[in-house]
Amino acid sequence: MVVNVMEEIARNALQDIFEDGYTGCMCEVCQNDILAIALNRLPPQYSSRQTGEAYIKARLFADQWKVDVLRELTHAADIVSKSTRHA
Ligand SMILES: [Zn+2]
Repeated sequence: MVVNVMEEIARNALQDIFEDGYTGCMCEVCQNDILAIALNRLPPQYSSRQTGEAYIKARLFADQWKVDVLRELTHAADIVSKSTRHA
């Protein structure tokens, strides 16, 4: 089983955005829409889950990737908040 480390980082970063005064909808549907849009624009970083390497890698590279991740998440949140797919 492999895990996309970028997804783990993006999920964590999304919580930062929500806690930082995001005014759009934060339901599960919108969260997943935001993540999907952002992750399509970010390079995936696959790692084997068994070794625990994914988490080591995530910690090592999180700072380096975080600027890109936050930029893409902010962009995605902007799109989703303007065109929510539910009532
Ligand atoms: Zn929503």
